[in-house]
Amino acid sequence: MIAWNSTPVPELDGTQSGISLFDTALQESALLVEHPERSLYVCGITPYDATHLGHASTYVAFDLLNRTWRDAGSKVSYVQNVTDVDDPLLERASATGVDWRDLATEQIALFREDMEALNVLPPNRYIGAVEAIDWIVPVVEQLVERGLAYAVPGEGGEPDGDIYFSLDAAAALAPDDDARWFLGQVSHLDGDTMLALSAERGGDPLRPHKRTALDPLLWRAARPGEPNWPGGSLGAGRPGWHIECAVIAHRFLPAPFTVQGGGSDLVFPHHEMSAAHAWAAGAPLAEHYAHAGMVGYDGEKMSKSRGNLVLVSKLRQAGVDPAAIRLAILAHHYRSDWSWTDGVLDEAVARLAVWRDAARHAGPQDVTTVREGVRRHMAQDLDAPSALNFIDAWAGSLRRDAAATDGRGLADVVDALLGVRL
Ligand code: ZN
Repeated sequence: MIAWNSTPVPELDGTQSGISLFDTALQESALLVEHPERSLYVCGITPYDATHLGHASTYVAFDLLNRTWRDAGSKVSYVQNVTDVDDPLLERASATGVDWRDLATEQIALFREDMEALNVLPPNRYIGAVEAIDWIVPVVEQLVERGLAYAVPGEGGEPDGDIYFSLDAAAALAPDDDARWFLGQVSHLDGDTMLALSAERGGDPLRPHKRTALDPLLWRAARPGEPNWPGGSLGAGRPGWHIECAVIAHRFLPAPFTVQGGGSDLVFPHHEMSAAHAWAAGAPLAEHYAHAGMVGYDGEKMSKSRGNLVLVSKLRQAGVDPAAIRLAILAHHYRSDWSWTDGVLDEAVARLAVWRDAARHAGPQDVTTVREGVRRHMAQDLDAPSALNFIDAWAGSLRRDAAATDGRGLADVVDALLGVRL
C-alpha cells in the first residue's frame, strides 16, 4: 500500500544524544542504547472514521520519536499497518450501505492527506491487513501444528473452525527459570481487568469452548456475507487483529524491533497479545513498548457514538492551519490524557503567529540556543510541552530591533525537531 509524501527533513548542526523513553512494559523510563539503526512499528487505523484528534495525536507522538532518532543520526525503519478488514469496518459499511472496500479506500485516502498536512513523516512500509493474509496464514498454521493454537466449534449457527491462540500453551513454552514471555508482560494488569478490557476492546471472553477466556482469535472462519480468503489448512476466513501486527512487524523489521507504539487503549489486549504471538512464533516482538494518551473533547471521551469526533479533515476544510493543529497537540505531553477545546486551538494559533514573527528576527546564536534547548527537552521522554515553553521564553526575550533574517535557520530547527512548519 502507498503511504503518503513528506518534504525532506532539514539537516541541522550537531546531534541529539541520550534519549530516554517511558516503557510501558518496564513501567519506567528507559535510556535507549545508542544505535545507528532504529526500528519502529506503530499500529495503524481501522479505516472507518479517519482521522480524529486521538489518531492525529498518536501519530504525531511517534513522529516526534522518529524525528528525535533521526536527529541523533540513526537510520529509522518505520512500519505501520492499516487494518483494512475487521469487524468494526464491516459493521460500519453494512450500517451505512457502503461496500467495505470503498469505505476503507476513502478513509485511507483521507488519513494520508491528514498525515501529510500534519507533517508526519511516512512509514517506510505501509501495509494493509488484506495484503498480509498470505504471510499470516503459514504462521497460524505453524502455531496449530505446534499445539499453540486450536479450533473452536461453532454454536448457534456459527461455523466450526475459528482458530484461537492458547495462552496457557504459550506460557508453558517458557521454562520458569528463563521465562521470556508471560501474560501481563506488557500491560501488568490483573486478571479481572484483563477480562473487562478484552470484552470492551474486541475480544470475546464469554465465547464457549475456548481453553481460557482471554485466548485471542487468530483466524475467523468464513461466514456468509463476510469477505474471506483462502487459509490453507485453516480453511477460508480472515485473520485476527493481533496476529496481523505481529506478522507484519516481523516481516519488515528486526526481531525484536526497537519500539512498538500506539495509543494507550492498545496496551491490552492488542500489544499484550501481539507480543505473545510474536514470541510463540519464534522471536520477541519489541525491545520497548510506548503509548500515547487519549484525547477527549470538552472533557468527554471522543467517540463516533457520542457524535463528538473532532476530525482533522474538518478542521482543515474550515481553514485551520495544520501547523496550528500540530502545535495544539504538542502542547500536551504525549503520554497524558487531555481534552480538545476551542481554547486549545486558539492558543496554538496565537503561539504560531508569535513564533513566525520571532523567526524573522533570529540570528545564528538564536538558532543555536533554540536547537539545543529543544533537543534537551525532546531527549527526555519527548517532552514537547517543555520544548514549546522554551521557545516561548526565547521568543519573549528576543530583541526585535535586530536585523531581519529570512527566518529559515530557526524554521528549520522547529521543522526538523518538532515537525512544525513556520
Ligand atoms: Zn497493531
